[in-house]
Amino acid sequence: MTTQICARCIMDSTVPGVRFDEHGVCNHCRIHDNLERAFPIGDEGARILQGVATKVRKVGKGRKYDCIVGVSGGRDTSYCLYYVKEVMNLRPLAVHFDNGWDSETAKTNLSRVCDTLDVDLHTIIMDWPESRELTNCTIRACVPYIDLTDDVGIASALYRTAANEGIRYIILSHSFREEGITPLAWNYMDARYTRALIKRFCRMKLVHFDNVDIHHMLYWSFIKGIRIVNITNHYDDTGDKIEKLLAERFGWIDTGQHHMDNEIFALVYYYARHKFGFDWRIVELAAKVRTGVTSREDALHALQTKPFFENEDLVNYCLKKQGFSREEFDQILAAPNKYFYDYPSYYPLLRALRLPIKLLCRAHVLPAHAYEKFFETM
Ligand SMILES: [Zn+2]
Repeated sequence: MTTQICARCIMDSTVPGVRFDEHGVCNHCRIHDNLERAFPIGDEGARILQGVATKVRKVGKGRKYDCIVGVSGGRDTSYCLYYVKEVMNLRPLAVHFDNGWDSETAKTNLSRVCDTLDVDLHTIIMDWPESRELTNCTIRACVPYIDLTDDVGIASALYRTAANEGIRYIILSHSFREEGITPLAWNYMDARYTRALIKRFCRMKLVHFDNVDIHHMLYWSFIKGIRIVNITNHYDDTGDKIEKLLAERFGWIDTGQHHMDNEIFALVYYYARHKFGFDWRIVELAAKVRTGVTSREDALHALQTKPFFENEDLVNYCLKKQGFSREEFDQILAAPNKYFYDYPSYYPLLRALRLPIKLLCRAHVLPAHAYEKFFETM
């Protein structure tokens, strides 16, 4: 079978859930265009964000903080924190989840950005033996999303801090323009699925890990009234102007690789490429083609170049830190591939609730593109 490549971006038929229309354009391009209409940037975007700022400020009146901004020390969250503080003129609390894999660069960036902006930083440090075991558990499950429990940890840290501090707004900085939308099969997450993997593959008793279940979400959203605003959808975050501003303003250092503020991603990317034969870079490169930051030719060429994570020393360092033998890892690479639908999950329930979920995404109760991700990339 030949591989079909989108006529507009570079997504191809090897990516799960990718479909093409009669013009050879993929469903991710269609999702992008729909999101462009739903979330404008420029003057209209600035006007929307001023409206958000007014509302957030009003709700935060009399409290120490107006909102929470999730931060990693990376490009997108650092710029988001700057934007919230200096452009929207809000009083954020920066919240960071530390899974034990923060790079030295990320730590430096986090303190430089927070100190310069005079923003308080609240770091939740995951118990290292549990953090390590949870990642190993997802590797043993043979699924592509081995940082699943880190993302549960991030969601838990943001919501629990908001609930404890009485903060009503969580500001996120995922960018469909800059990062694209990852196909659901590559990184599906829900509490029932997480619990199923832990039950079957975890080899230690967990004391510190907090799952994020439907009843938690209902409590935080409807009793605590916590709202999620993805402000990145309403400003232009594309291109290297962002890195330049961060470097000039904060002495921010570029790791040179997306997500490498957290070094476990070297293993995440390597494992996906060698076990599942996919390259995470395709989603982000395709997004950059759609926004015109990169040409289609350059993106196709970049995808052919050897990635930074094809580095055996780096992979062996990661495995050693994870306490995973190379022998067992190689056996897992050779074992049959699994996806979330091979395990129990809430996905059938979520499919039944498709329309209310769309409304909740647009009302900022759920993250902005959760609807597109869950139902249009499968
Ligand atoms: Zn496309």
